[in-house]
Amino acid sequence: MSVAKVIVDVPAQQTNRPFDYRIPAHLQDVIKPGMRVVVPFGPRKVQGFVIDIVENSQFPKLREIYEPMDIEPILNKELLELADWLTEQTLCYKITAFQVMLPPALKAKYEKKLKLKDRHLLKKLPESLQAFFNDRDTISWEEVVKSGELSHFQKQVANDVLEVLYIVKERVKKKKIKMIAPAISRVELMSRKEELSKRSSKQISVMDYFLSHPEPIERKELLTKLGITSSVIKGLIDKEILHETMEEIYRDPYGDRTFKQTMPLDLTEEQSAAIRPILQTISEQIHEVFLLYGVTGSGKTEIYLQSIQKVLQEGKEGIVLVPEISLTPQMVNRFKSRFGDEVAVLHSGLSVGEKYDEWRKIQRKEVRVVVGARSAIFAPFENLGIIIIDEEHETSYKQEDNPRYHARDVAIERAKNYRCPVILGSATPSLETFARAKKGVYKLLTLSKRMNEHNLPTVDIVDMREELREGNRSMFSRLLYDKIQDRLEKKEQTVLFLNKRGHSSFVMCRDCGYVIQCPNCDISLTYHRFSQQMKCHYCGFEAVVPTICPECSSEHIRYFGTGTQKVEEELGKNFPEAKVIRMDVDTTSRKGAHEKLLNAFQEGKADILLGTQMIAKGLDFPNITLVGVLSADTMLHLPDFRSSEKTFQLLTQVAGRAGRHELAGEVVIQTYTPEHYSIILAGEQDFDGFYQQEMMIRKIHQYPPFYYLALVTVSHEELMKVIDVTEKISKLLSSRLSHGARILGPVACPIPRINNKYRYQCIVKYKREPKLTETLNMILDHYQQESTNGGLQITIDNNPYLLM
Ligand code: ADP
Ligand code: ZN
Ligand code: ZN
Repeated sequence: MSVAKVIVDVPAQQTNRPFDYRIPAHLQDVIKPGMRVVVPFGPRKVQGFVIDIVENSQFPKLREIYEPMDIEPILNKELLELADWLTEQTLCYKITAFQVMLPPALKAKYEKKLKLKDRHLLKKLPESLQAFFNDRDTISWEEVVKSGELSHFQKQVANDVLEVLYIVKERVKKKKIKMIAPAISRVELMSRKEELSKRSSKQISVMDYFLSHPEPIERKELLTKLGITSSVIKGLIDKEILHETMEEIYRDPYGDRTFKQTMPLDLTEEQSAAIRPILQTISEQIHEVFLLYGVTGSGKTEIYLQSIQKVLQEGKEGIVLVPEISLTPQMVNRFKSRFGDEVAVLHSGLSVGEKYDEWRKIQRKEVRVVVGARSAIFAPFENLGIIIIDEEHETSYKQEDNPRYHARDVAIERAKNYRCPVILGSATPSLETFARAKKGVYKLLTLSKRMNEHNLPTVDIVDMREELREGNRSMFSRLLYDKIQDRLEKKEQTVLFLNKRGHSSFVMCRDCGYVIQCPNCDISLTYHRFSQQMKCHYCGFEAVVPTICPECSSEHIRYFGTGTQKVEEELGKNFPEAKVIRMDVDTTSRKGAHEKLLNAFQEGKADILLGTQMIAKGLDFPNITLVGVLSADTMLHLPDFRSSEKTFQLLTQVAGRAGRHELAGEVVIQTYTPEHYSIILAGEQDFDGFYQQEMMIRKIHQYPPFYYLALVTVSHEELMKVIDVTEKISKLLSSRLSHGARILGPVACPIPRINNKYRYQCIVKYKREPKLTETLNMILDHYQQESTNGGLQITIDNNPYLLM
């Protein structure tokens, strides 16, 4: 008897372990670890993942697996094991760990079919299967399951004769092309041709074509090949000699673009010194983590490219992670141009189907490099030779949802398994990473010079309080104003950066100061000019802007704050002749809009590019000579111990946009706190100075990298309940952890109410706590019952990046 160990898709503490199922005789050779199956669970039918197959079970009465959901494993052995690690690290359920590794298409509703890859292959099928495909190319999964021939089908998939199609039911229109093929047999084709009058020479040429090429051809191609119009084909279709079908094609998002092949550049001395140890770990198959520390433009990407090249030569594969926001076409182009069709791209701009297509290319080993955002770290490669994480300090590498993993940790864990290097690249590494590099845990590689030896831009820090004192009420300081004016005259380009986090527009009464709040959350509503509405960014609540103040009935109610739209208006007033391109969530939400706007700016169609975070990265245009930061400190005051670090990183990055080419660059940083070290040191582009200062502060306040953090958040509709539970949790933690651990709380979260649920938290600071995971699991265990019934919600984040 064979028994499958199955993790069922019932995310709960009690079901977070494998269940044994008997594999029925006809599925004996079919079921493999890494496949999904349908199993009975209580009175229900549920999905599950097979994690292992064993001979015997300790349980006498086992239920049987109903049917497989996949014809081949969708998770390999390494990923199955990685799920164990992920579960332990992030305290998530096993099933959650499996799900996060799969492309969303496999979680969505889809229809599954088996397709004969090519009609010529029909004869290759065993006779028992041929019958299924005699008159068609695809059959439904239901037929496959009912056939009792599953193992035969499976073999043919392995032989590449059949393939599995997942047809996702998505609203996004799938890309289809029109195919033309003969509707009749060859013999009939010949006789029908004889019947045609000699005057239909065009139609005859089409039939001649199909007599020598019977396979389907794309309509467009046929038209150009034979130099005919579509009416000729239509005539033949009407005569039922040809037929037209719609065929879905690979939704390759970059497929219609051509990439000019680039060759490896001769490395500079600094680059050679940096890449040498990396290449060595590749050829000697040693696991090592490198921090490639170098300012923007110092040639890090070229090192990534040449390291990957080496990996490909060794017959291995590589993963490159890039923050979502800088996964720009420019970035993708650099990898596509070097490695061509070997590259798959995964980012959130793709439709579910497109993502699935890219994932499938990886799984079928059609590509050997993937460039993608966070979740690409789970790319199902089986022979990894390198993992690269660019801009490693970016917080978007942390998933803020279960499983709350950090891609950097996953990368290191996978690389250990494959005995291959990880490269973390950054101009402003996270404090945690830099501290590890200094201690020798990671190997530090430094690029100190910008490639083109151009000087870093000069930076001016402007005190906006001073401006106000001297009567300047505008959002542009006099210095910035003059410089913008100067660039307009010289026809050079300016980038204006608005740090929007925590600074969005809100609606306030000028008479009584009342700010309109979300009725469900303790947070002000954000004003959207385009729709004339106010929205809550936490719960989605929407309302129209009132004409009178709900508090004092004054009519002087208006929106405040400097959203990008407001800045755009002000620019129009101050520089009426300037052409402005605005880039923010509103103008870039449509697919491809981001790229269009950037291209327009690059082509000189505007003088000023105005935008939020998303313009901080990857812009590399020769004509940008001025960068203005409108308000540097909006992020400094967030209740987050990383706010100085984030401010420093962002300012350094923005400043790096200016003067990357022949023209010298200037940067103006406007701030209300010019004395803050993160602003001064960002102005000097002094990472080492910042590191020293910030480490001191982290040490005093016992924050990472000196201490680890764990965050427990409790939420419920009743405030008393929330406080009570958080209190109990804090007490339990105190009693079970060592004296070295510090437990802060219970305290209200910085956002104390979201969607009508009150929120309290407690933070654990610790250095080494062997009992922590066990205790946190105990807490989850204990409260899970209530969470399903009473709406009590407990989330635990080991190593949180958001303390809100
Ligand atoms: P980073 O990734 O650190 O921002 P890049 O790799 O983008 O730096 O390099 C900056 C510029 O210098 C790019 O235009 C790149 O093509 C060029 N570059 C990099 N390495 C070399 C080299 N060895 N020789 C000539 N140009 C180089
Ligand atoms: Zn009022
Ligand atoms: Zn709300």
